[in-house]
Amino acid sequence: MDTFASLITEWFSVNKRPLPWRDVAGWYPVFLSEYLLQQTQVRQAIPYYLNIFARFPDISTLAAADEADIIRLWRGLGYYNRARNLLKAAQIIESGFNGQFPPYLKEALTLPGIGDYTAAAILSIAFNQPYPVVDGNVLRVVMRFMTWPEDIRQGQTKLKVRRFLQDIIPVEKPGDFNEALMELGATVCKPKNPSCIRCPLSGLCLAKKQDQTTVIPFKSPPPPKQKRFQLACIYRNSKGWLLAQRPATGLLPAMWEFPLRELGSLHELEHLAGGQRILKHSYSHIDLYYSYIIIHDPSDLPELKNYQQTAMLGTEELLDKAIHKAHLKIIEQLDLIYCFSAAENTKN
Ligand code: SF4
Repeated sequence: MDTFASLITEWFSVNKRPLPWRDVAGWYPVFLSEYLLQQTQVRQAIPYYLNIFARFPDISTLAAADEADIIRLWRGLGYYNRARNLLKAAQIIESGFNGQFPPYLKEALTLPGIGDYTAAAILSIAFNQPYPVVDGNVLRVVMRFMTWPEDIRQGQTKLKVRRFLQDIIPVEKPGDFNEALMELGATVCKPKNPSCIRCPLSGLCLAKKQDQTTVIPFKSPPPPKQKRFQLACIYRNSKGWLLAQRPATGLLPAMWEFPLRELGSLHELEHLAGGQRILKHSYSHIDLYYSYIIIHDPSDLPELKNYQQTAMLGTEELLDKAIHKAHLKIIEQLDLIYCFSAAENTKN
């Protein structure tokens, strides 16, 4: 399988995309980019990387950052726990590892937000350690190359691919090998209509030979999503709007939202929303149906005991908080920011 490795790394040396974290030497750009690339496409991550890197160009400045500053720079990218984990990891690296990323897998895995994939990516790209990365792009290339029929939704399949790669990853430039595979999957061996004609593996690829590229990789249908129904309760007084911060674990950890009332059915939601539009937001395992009501009497608010904290927030403070997307849609609908500014202007 030396051929596999040399074909893709040679292809990569000519075809690699110019990405900003590839322009700067050292582990810090790789570290920062890998947090951004969790659950985010390269193209979407680039402007965020540039902004964060410009503001925090090294681990010391990042470790000394305020969480609110990181969250502000992260706004719009979603999955804000990544931003919090990035900051916590930077602080641990700064104080516990003398400002150096720990170059061993065991220590790397102790950092917040770093699992097998991110550790392998950083250690191989920045420290030349032969740990293979297995993401969706890599899975697709290998499954097609080998015409393996297994379901890529299964953990066992991922393990099989990792073992295959572990045997062939070159000790010299393992980072290029990993990046080459990810890049090949992202730009050539795409889920639909792979561009086999441009692929360095086309002479050896079994899926291409057997005309199996449309059926491999096999992915079983996802389990049905859970449905949830929620009513957001909007309460405002002279100090601002009542917002609450969700628990640090579970769905949307530590995100801010309007206090919620959980309901049992769509029918109940429609009834309590009183003609207000029902909105829908989909997460990986949950379809959320929700709407909102304006509360005038605080005794009508739902129980707040499950929240980490609550706060009355004016416009500026509200904009600084990491509010999850579903409730940002409510703000858009209500044009709350405009209303609140107008109220403040009147008051002044
Ligand atoms: S030859 Fe086609 S199917 Fe095979 S790895 Fe390359 S792009 Fe994918």
